[in-house]
Amino acid sequence: MTPFACSRCQQTVFFENHQCGNCGARLGFVPGLLRLLAWAPDAAIDAPAEGDSGAPLRPCANSSQYGVCNWMLDAGDPHPLCRSCRLNLTIPDLSQPGHLDRWARVEQAKRRWLYTLLRLGLSPQPKQGPDDALGLGLHILAPQPGAEPVMTGHATGLITLNLDEADDVRREMARAAFGEPWRTLLGHLRHEGAHYLHHRWIAGDAAAADEFRAAFGDERADYGDALMRYHREGPPGDWASRYISAYASAHPHEDWAETCAHWLLVQDAVQTAGAWGLSLHSAAAQADPAQQPLQALPPDQLLLSQWLPVAQFLNAMNRSLGLSDSYPFLLPPAVVHKMGVVARLLGRAAAAGGAPANPANPANAAAPAPTVPDAGATAVPTPSPPSPTITNG
Ligand SMILES: [Zn+2]
Ligand SMILES: [Zn+2]
Ligand SMILES: [Zn+2]
Repeated sequence: MTPFACSRCQQTVFFENHQCGNCGARLGFVPGLLRLLAWAPDAAIDAPAEGDSGAPLRPCANSSQYGVCNWMLDAGDPHPLCRSCRLNLTIPDLSQPGHLDRWARVEQAKRRWLYTLLRLGLSPQPKQGPDDALGLGLHILAPQPGAEPVMTGHATGLITLNLDEADDVRREMARAAFGEPWRTLLGHLRHEGAHYLHHRWIAGDAAAADEFRAAFGDERADYGDALMRYHREGPPGDWASRYISAYASAHPHEDWAETCAHWLLVQDAVQTAGAWGLSLHSAAAQADPAQQPLQALPPDQLLLSQWLPVAQFLNAMNRSLGLSDSYPFLLPPAVVHKMGVVARLLGRAAAAGGAPANPANPANAAAPAPTVPDAGATAVPTPSPPSPTITNG
């Protein structure tokens, strides 16, 4: 992600900022412009952006009411919430201790995930009702004592997220229990969001579905059986040469979700590195990826020339600081190939205007996509494979 400049004083500010630390201006992100602008109550927004219609803007109600959002919307919009917050169908009970703080972290991660999608030309629309199979809705749920566990997962455009994933201690305990190299809130949103992207833009497009199956396998294979087998037997011994993670080996749906989530990570990270002028022995990085449309470079070139040098630098630096590797992943050729398929399929979805290629396809109307619970809320931890790492020696 690019750093932003305060539109009042030009100080560097960040996507997550609600206020400029230099001049004190309140800051609001305008998703239609992908810009962070200074604004003041009862005043026209500062520095209307080029191409802006000049329509007055107002902050999302979740900003004024709870302080958990910094996105703006048109002042005339009858909906009180921004396009990120209006995806929520359920939010946690904010009267409970800690819930407001954890919910704020979820919203922050969600906005970053959406930013990447918007840059890719993909704009999930909120569900219009229970029959709207293609819209997106989120249930952000806190586990209740004595109740069924909250399973993070996706089903037919509904993402359920366990609020505990926003609690650093609980998330780290889960990470260790499942032998994962890392586990992040943003990663959960990218992963569950990837299931949604498949459901929304790939499952109903016959050509896209064929390309998906050629790369990831047939997702119509029984999901429940596959997950039970995975949790019983663990990943295949050679998983690290074929998958981005052990969990990706469980089922084609999970391979897609893990690979697609990783592709979104690389997109964000490469843009960030480029925007900060970080170029590591890489002529291609001079092309300033921050200013390019995403996917302008072929995936293998993007990965090998721009991302891996940065990732290796991050790992080397972390080791100097006595910390664990920032990027504990291998990118074998099979994974790079699948990332290329992800890039092509998402690019095709965006080129189609974010609409399904074939709306008449019955799969688009009520696709019987399986519920794919993730995050192993009740699953048996898998045998811990050796954590892969890119080679820094
Ligand atoms: Zn400022
Ligand atoms: Zn909002
Ligand atoms: Zn999944």
